[in-house]
Amino acid sequence: MRPNVKVLETSYISPQIKKIRFQGDISKWSFRIGYANVVRVSETEFRNYTVADHDKEKGIFEIIFHIHGNGIGSKYIDALQTNDELFISPPRGKKMYDKNVKQQFFFGDETSLGVALALLPLLKKNNHQFQFYFELDEKNKSVPELLGLENYNTFPKNNSRNEKWISNLPLFQTDEWNTANFALVGNVKSVQTFRKVLKDKKQGNIYSQGYWLEGKKGL
Ligand SMILES: Cc1cc2nc3c(=O)[nH]c(=O)nc-3n(C[C@H](O)[C@H](O)[C@H](O)COP(=O)(O)OP(=O)(O)OC[C@H]3O[C@@H](n4cnc5c(N)ncnc54)[C@H](O)[C@@H]3O)c2cc1C
Repeated sequence: MRPNVKVLETSYISPQIKKIRFQGDISKWSFRIGYANVVRVSETEFRNYTVADHDKEKGIFEIIFHIHGNGIGSKYIDALQTNDELFISPPRGKKMYDKNVKQQFFFGDETSLGVALALLPLLKKNNHQFQFYFELDEKNKSVPELLGLENYNTFPKNNSRNEKWISNLPLFQTDEWNTANFALVGNVKSVQTFRKVLKDKKQGNIYSQGYWLEGKKGL
């Protein structure tokens, strides 16, 4: 658990979204869409974050952090500066991408921008039809564009806690997306509501993982 990576560069995409580029020996790390790394945020605590981009040869990787201000991880990351050293584990977890399915739908929030960025080049390379949906705070609305994401819709938080609103989304009004892959990540309640609508409609393959929940520490 000793520090194994160093902060090369930090930047704020918005006051709440911080991008950090790290350097370290990642030659043996295995990167899969949906995998996450644990970051040591105190003597005893660890939090999950996703690598958004990496270059194995140069030993460089980037993570997009939501600086929400409510937890120890968020505060620790906010304070990180160039040359700081810390411990980040290799990626591991749940895969959420199947390259054999033509249509790919992705739902997430600020915590999911990193996995969306990691997924985008694969969606383009493998000629998928794809659509990103992000629920974002007003102040982060322009972040997907600033990060270079494509084919996305943004909408205010709480819409995705409303089953009726989800059912009325344009993509559910055609048969075209019936057999799509649905990757649902981010807030637990939003993910659960989305999942319920999809299950009720018996639509597609669902990969879902809650990334955070109000009142719960470190999922
Ligand atoms: C597989 C996986 C991958 C993840 N990838 C990323 C990633 O790439 N980038 C990223 O920013 N996050 C990511 N997360 C989410 C991140 O791990 C959580 O947001 C985590 O709770 C942050 O830790 P914390 O110490 O700041 O807050 P905690 O101490 O865990 O929580 C304290 C309180 O803060 C509040 N809270 C937690 N997260 C948020 C939030 N996002 N917005 C508003 N309030 C919140 C909750 O009410 C909670 O009770 C990922 C989670 C998982 C499981």
